Amino acid sequence: MFDLANVTHLINYIIFTIVIIFILTKQLPLERMVRRSRIIIWLVLIINIFSAILQFFCLISPDSNILYQLAADCLGIIGQSILLIGIVWMKLIVEPSPKPRKILVIGAHPDDIEIACGGSIAELSDAGNTIMSLIVSKGERGGNSSSRLIEATKSAEFLGINKVEIMDFPDTKLDQFILEISKKIEIIVNELKPDMVFTHSIHDLHQDHRAVHDATLRACRNLSTILCYESPSTTQDFQPNVFINIEQYVDIKIESIQEHKDQNKKKYVQPEQVYGKAIFRGAQAKLGEAEGFEAIRINLQI
Ligand SMILES: [Zn+2]
Repeated sequence: MFDLANVTHLINYIIFTIVIIFILTKQLPLERMVRRSRIIIWLVLIINIFSAILQFFCLISPDSNILYQLAADCLGIIGQSILLIGIVWMKLIVEPSPKPRKILVIGAHPDDIEIACGGSIAELSDAGNTIMSLIVSKGERGGNSSSRLIEATKSAEFLGINKVEIMDFPDTKLDQFILEISKKIEIIVNELKPDMVFTHSIHDLHQDHRAVHDATLRACRNLSTILCYESPSTTQDFQPNVFINIEQYVDIKIESIQEHKDQNKKKYVQPEQVYGKAIFRGAQAKLGEAEGFEAIRINLQI
């Protein structure tokens, strides 16, 4: 009594619907891309549910109108097509790094890394590099430290950072603990043996940022690649000489910064400011959007 073609169609749509529900609910590395296209995914899900209902109706009523079957087929095809277009549009496929590296990113406060180099980190992660982030203070003077930590962890996960370590040095007083911070960083450096380190620039008015810069350089004295990033408090002396193209990642950078809801009133986290800076650095680098860095030294891996 069951038409085999209809049974096949029904199974097809049920499987496809389960796949979409899985993508929506699981914390896959894919999520940060899919999250940007959440509307597309929901649309595809609704189309598939309607399609499955129509298929089921056709299955239990062999005399049903052929138009129902056509509608069910068309809806399924449209849904799957939208998903495919969405995936291509979101550029899920990233060129893998020829030599995956271990990267350590150090920031004084919970949102420093995203503001400075969120696009580069996401891109490096997608290319298959291993990334660890180290946040030196919980940012208790600049906001609610407990919510800031949750936001920092969520944002790091979104960017694809493999491990986050948060230290508890006192916010705004890091300059009094440079030696201690340096020793802590050195322990991590000895364990991780990173190929590349990102840290604050010395050309920064914030005493915590300068302290982390000093502590990093001391701890990483034997490493061959150290890049210093900019922050909202870097001065005009910040002169980047290394650029990373984030044309495909500027939206992800903006979204990772917006994870820090505790800080969302500040001017420098507004999307237009983040985007404007990326455009400016991109123009310097003859690219679209970019992030700029001052190299302490760099080992060009050829
Ligand atoms: Zn900071």
